[in-house]
Parts: sequence; C-alpha cells; structure tokens
Amino acid sequence: MARYIGSACKQCRAEREKLFLKGERCSTKCALDRKRGKNAPGQHGAKKGKISDYGKHLREKQKARRVFGLTEQQFKRYFIVAEKMPGLTSDELLKLLEMRLDNVVYKLGLSYSRKMARQMVMHGLIVVNGKKIDVPRYQVKKDDVITVKNSYKDNAVLKKLMENPVAVPSWLSFNKDAIEGKVLNEPLKEDFSHPINGQLIVEFYSK
Ligand code: SF4
Repeated sequence: MARYIGSACKQCRAEREKLFLKGERCSTKCALDRKRGKNAPGQHGAKKGKISDYGKHLREKQKARRVFGLTEQQFKRYFIVAEKMPGLTSDELLKLLEMRLDNVVYKLGLSYSRKMARQMVMHGLIVVNGKKIDVPRYQVKKDDVITVKNSYKDNAVLKKLMENPVAVPSWLSFNKDAIEGKVLNEPLKEDFSHPINGQLIVEFYSK
C-alpha cells in the first residue's frame, strides 16, 4: 500500500497550519508554534506570497488528503464515491473520510495519531463487532462497536492513553473501563475533524 514516508512537519508547513500528524508532540513541541516554523518548506519558503484562486482550492484538497494520510489516488476515489451519493458532495466526502476505521480509532483516543491508528488496524489490534478488522479504510456504520484485541488491553501505551481519555465527538461514545467505543450516528458537518472547506475541494476537482 502506497504511503507518504517524508517528514510529517513538512506537510504542516506546506499548509501553513497544524495538521496534528504526530500525536503528543504536536501539542508540546511543534515547529509551527515557533515563528520560523511557519514558513513554507524549501529555500524560498519564507518569501511565498499571495496565493492564487487555484492555489486555494489545491491547498484545501492537499490539507484534507494530508490530515487523513491518503495518497492522491485514494483521495480521488473518495471524491468519485461522494459524487454519486445523494447528499452534498462536499459533506459526503468529509463524512466518508471521517468514518474510516483508522480515523475512528484515533477519535476514540485509542492512539496518539491517525498514523498510529492506521498501524494498529493493520497489525490486527482492532476489533469491530467482535471481528478483527485490519483494513484502515473500513467504513464504520451506526451501532458498530469498536474495541482492541484482548491481548492488547494490557499494552503500556494504551494504558497511558486511558489515563487521560480524550473527549470523543458526539457521534461516538466511549467506555474507558471496557476500552470500547460505539458509533452512535453518522457525523454531522460540525463533527468533522479539522476545519476543512469541502466546497473548495469540489471546485478543485470540477475545474
Ligand atoms: Fe509537526 Fe505536529 Fe506540528 Fe504538524 S502539528 S508541524 S506534525 S509537530
């Protein structure tokens, strides 16, 4: 499976905003919290000036793609599926991304980042409705119950995460004692992970 192996922080700098790709470090030791870190990557990063209309659309698409750790092809595939859905393409696209299993694992606070969540899924540590699911793109549904493999429940990293459970979005619930999450509903627009303007992405692909 293709994946980006370059610097995570470089991706944030390209978007000139924090995308929270590295977990704990993003809140404690982020380059973007320092003045120089706000420059776009590259020799002339500090000089990059006004962004064109096309640039705005492109940046929004790249931001969404990077937040969810997807390749261009994977992201485009989501867009094609969203276009065929009955609702607004921009909302359907973000809903599809939000309901990926790796994103849900991250949102439940079972990992520090989406990258870590993806690895957990791929290593077979995540159980959905009693069945191991090792496909990060798996789309969760209403009433799905998500937990970790029994043998992983004693893992030191997981135990540390459970000491300070995160506030889960309203479309999910989480039982810290059972280490078990549930999908209560489909996410609404206001539940989406990151401030992403889906309309700009639709316009990018419509050009
Ligand atoms: Fe790096 Fe995280 Fe800061 Fe992004 S938010 S620049 S990944 S530390």
